[in-house]
Amino acid sequence: MSHIPENLALILQRIERACIANNRDPQDVRLLLATKTVPADRIRLAIAAGQTLIGENKIQEIKEKYHDLVDLKPINHFIGHLQTNKIKDILKYDVTCIHSVDRLDLASKLHQRLTLENKKIEVLIQVNTSQEESKFGVAPEEALALIQEVAQFDTLRIKGLMTIGLFSADEAQIRPCFKLLKSIQQQAIQLNLPQVEMKELSMGMSGDLEIAIAEGATIVRVGTAIFGERIYPDSYYWNENK
Ligand SMILES: *Cc1c(COP(=O)(O)O)cnc(C)c1O
Repeated sequence: MSHIPENLALILQRIERACIANNRDPQDVRLLLATKTVPADRIRLAIAAGQTLIGENKIQEIKEKYHDLVDLKPINHFIGHLQTNKIKDILKYDVTCIHSVDRLDLASKLHQRLTLENKKIEVLIQVNTSQEESKFGVAPEEALALIQEVAQFDTLRIKGLMTIGLFSADEAQIRPCFKLLKSIQQQAIQLNLPQVEMKELSMGMSGDLEIAIAEGATIVRVGTAIFGERIYPDSYYWNENK
């Protein structure tokens, strides 16, 4: 039996309540289904229940599920760590936005490949707001410089920022991560860079989406609370050497 429609309804309710509590329009917060490890037939249930935006962490999983989902025309984002040797692959599967651009080398190689294919793609700059070594993302103090560098690549359309909040049960430790992302967004807006839109803040997951919405999230990425617990620990996805 699947609880996916019920779980989804609960998440949508949490999003709506958090928006109302913070004087925000629920339309301004999009739900992204974080579908790592979830088989295509279960993702189909969530799409059938009205969802359109999905995000994978690994190219291999996009490859495996792409053809089983393509008839439903989901919007595909990429939310995992992107290795430069996978760039060619990611461009084969209609990924419209990469949330995890966190270094110049990656941006520059993406730009080279996109130029060759005469394509453009949306990107978010991933910032390591929790400063944990295990997490990817540019260091907060280097984020503005990276944004300026990436802005020079006309194939990459910067739409905003992404972060993963600190894993903690303590709200007082999570909230500063989201506040920091917001403040980097405000500073980036001040730079007035041509072609750069700083409207998206991709932050908040199953455990902390209310805090993220209170701090300005426009995309929340939710997996566990919709699809259930995963077998692999998240470090499997978030550590370089795995
Ligand atoms: C897995 C994952 C999520 C979703 O996390 P849950 O706690 O399962 O909701 C969000 N963002 C990224 C980058 C992820 O890898």
